[in-house]
Amino acid sequence: MATESALDTARSQLRRAVELLKLSENDWQTLSTPRRILEVAVPLRRDNGNVEMYKGFRVQYSTTRGPSKGGVRFHPAIDMDETVALAMLMTWKCALTNLPYGGAKGGIAVDVHDLSLSENERLTRRYTSEILPIIGPERDIPAPDVGTDERNMAWMMDTYSVNAGFSVPGVVTGKPIVLGGSLGRTSATGDGVAISAIEALRVKGISQAGATVAIQGFGKVGYWTAIALENFGLKIVAVSDVHGGVTGFKNVTELWNHFQANGNLNAPGTEKLTQEELIQLDVDVLIPAALADAITQANASGIRAKIIVEGANAPTTPGGDAILNDKNILVVPDILANSGGVIVSYFEWVQDKQNYFWTADEVKSNLNDILMRSFREVEAMATSMNISWREAAHVIGVARVAQAHKLRGLYP
Ligand code: NAD
Repeated sequence: MATESALDTARSQLRRAVELLKLSENDWQTLSTPRRILEVAVPLRRDNGNVEMYKGFRVQYSTTRGPSKGGVRFHPAIDMDETVALAMLMTWKCALTNLPYGGAKGGIAVDVHDLSLSENERLTRRYTSEILPIIGPERDIPAPDVGTDERNMAWMMDTYSVNAGFSVPGVVTGKPIVLGGSLGRTSATGDGVAISAIEALRVKGISQAGATVAIQGFGKVGYWTAIALENFGLKIVAVSDVHGGVTGFKNVTELWNHFQANGNLNAPGTEKLTQEELIQLDVDVLIPAALADAITQANASGIRAKIIVEGANAPTTPGGDAILNDKNILVVPDILANSGGVIVSYFEWVQDKQNYFWTADEVKSNLNDILMRSFREVEAMATSMNISWREAAHVIGVARVAQAHKLRGLYP
């Protein structure tokens, strides 16, 4: 069987939604074609004076429902195909949650662990400057993703603003609070993943108190998901990062403190696990929160979790998905489960536009409203059409984009 890249996965999910919606071949052509693709060379002067070239990408997959929106990933494996796939997913995610955005994604093929702080800053600023003609608060609004965080967003906002001649906080989201960031954005994706997990437990009739959870990835999404779920009374039994997994820790905060102090997860009293062992643990909820293609045809049959909540983007290949469906495992798909990040990014953009900032409670309550509305819509669509939750989520998102295309018509 052909390898399943993130782009293969995204295209096959779109193909299925187009079939379910009985859209035409013309619609498929329109929906499966990215609107604007930019590849840039990003030269970096290293601290030792050497100059190295990196490849940078920005894909604006759709601008039909509003400015495009999506993260910036710094990771050695990122390429144009993956960026297109992730930008496509952002398009359906924004449509599913009914945010007034299209979808985008970007990044640089670089290992951030090889960069000093000042190298990271220079690389971020030069990348921003190279993609500057196509971004802006009314055009395309970047945000953090794998390998980037609020520091990178501050440098991007500053680079854009210096070139504009005035402060433009709305050009990026996920900024530090003092620069126009939103309360609640740092934990938003994890909070949304946790809300999705709680709702999925309800659907499956599993009691929330003491339900067990394994999380692959202990970065911005994995960590905040773990904290939120622990606060909801669930038991996090295992987590992993790029170096492998651990089990046997007392609680997430203690493990995080060890990780911050030592740079590894091997806290005293913990036992090591491989990624595959973690994925196949006998838990109620499995949360992939790292990279694409974590669950495939090769490992899905060994999964024993009752529910999978996709914190990561595109963590399950179509081959893996088919096996999970056969095993009757409830999969809350990425474009629903991890949409908390873009929902609160939207709130940040709205606050920046209005120069009026909300309380943490307002952010939390509005996030909950939008996520729960989307959750109910997906649950109802899956039931009424007798399809998987992933198919239902794509049907809703793709239908909204297709309808917007039809209503706008074709220029000229
Ligand atoms: P991050 O860089 O903060 O963390 C990534 C984590 O994954 C790290 O703990 C890293 O060690 C781990 N990791 C990397 N490769 C791994 C591997 N092969 N096996 C196991 N763990 C591995 O990134 P993040 O922002 O937490 O993003 C994680 C996922 O969530 C990505 O798929 C991203 O696209 C998605 N996502 C992020 C956001 C957001 O707001 N940051 C929003 C929606 C979706």
